[in-house]
Amino acid sequence: MGFATDAIHAGQHPDLETGAVITPIHMTTTYAQEELGKNKGYAYGRTSNLTRQSLEANVAALEKGKYGIAFSSGIAAINALMSLVKAGDHIVVSDNVYGGVYRLFENFLSDYSLEFSWVNMNNLQNVVDAVKPNTKIVYAETPTNPMLTITDISELAKICKERNLISIVDNTFMSPYFQNPLLLGADIVVHSSTKYLNGHSDVIGGMVVTNSDTIHKRIRFVQNAAGAIPSPFDCWLTLRATKTLAVRMKQHNENAIKIAEYFRDKEYIQKIYYPGLSDHPDHELAKKQMSGFGGMISVDLGDAEKAKNFLKNVKIFTLAESLGGVESLVCHPATMTHASVPKVERERLGITDSLVRLSVGIEDVEDLILDIENAMK
Ligand SMILES: *Cc1c(COP(=O)(O)O)cnc(C)c1O
Repeated sequence: MGFATDAIHAGQHPDLETGAVITPIHMTTTYAQEELGKNKGYAYGRTSNLTRQSLEANVAALEKGKYGIAFSSGIAAINALMSLVKAGDHIVVSDNVYGGVYRLFENFLSDYSLEFSWVNMNNLQNVVDAVKPNTKIVYAETPTNPMLTITDISELAKICKERNLISIVDNTFMSPYFQNPLLLGADIVVHSSTKYLNGHSDVIGGMVVTNSDTIHKRIRFVQNAAGAIPSPFDCWLTLRATKTLAVRMKQHNENAIKIAEYFRDKEYIQKIYYPGLSDHPDHELAKKQMSGFGGMISVDLGDAEKAKNFLKNVKIFTLAESLGGVESLVCHPATMTHASVPKVERERLGITDSLVRLSVGIEDVEDLILDIENAMK
């Protein structure tokens, strides 16, 4: 099936009892058992829930994977993935990941004897060089947040397969509509479904997709054992949202391309980061592994005061954390999403105090451009 057809139908069927076309919200913690040891495959809400199963099957289909496992947040999903390793193991990570992932690994999991190395995965030799005898996982985010550099997923997967390492790709920025890491050879794809998958800025959620029976078994176990499950209502909202993922992503992409082109010749922009521009250093690689460039743009205004004024004066773009919703948002990574990354590290990555990140929504692009133009004046 095509993507849009799967998005609307995969994992769902009319309700067996009533014919209801839309999957019901199974708000129940427990299930009646017919007799001792006999139930319909459902015993307790943390362990199994039909609304959640529908969402898991739906997103698995969109990522071209066999298994989907839903979590209460993207961070909970990533935390669960770290249960694939044990104390003393080593993980190689993109040096420019989502700030909360940096915090999870560096300020939390490192207390439990997991060891992390941070490397620039724009050059995969850095990954090869970082691998040690106790390395078990390579964790990549591509495009990165907020610098939008790209990692070659199929090359990375090859390096990992040769060394028997598990490769994980955070595909939050592209969504399965523009990029399918499993098809490129990755072992696991993870999402903050809070962003494009849900797309309406009203649910925090996470999703893991894999083709591996062993990985699925372990993560399914952890979902129940550690218990970071999403509520049935959140699953239902996300399931409703993925139905329009194809049309939303097309519009995010179209609007972002227009805004990036608008920025291109403006003298107040010192630097623009958008992989869809032909002079972006990773444009060719982006074209090879992505079928679009998404809705995220970062611009360096060259001056922190200018950035502050811009953020204050936009009207349609809302100053807020998060991304991937239908409404346009703008943020200041240095003090917001990436505040937990030390300043020297931020500067090295290009996350200056004058960097602004736009999450381009699906409003009329003419209005968005006018809003930017007015705020810049
Ligand atoms: C937001 C985000 C996360 C964390 O997800 P939450 O749903 O906020 O817990 C992880 N990775 C990326 C790329 C993100 O943008």
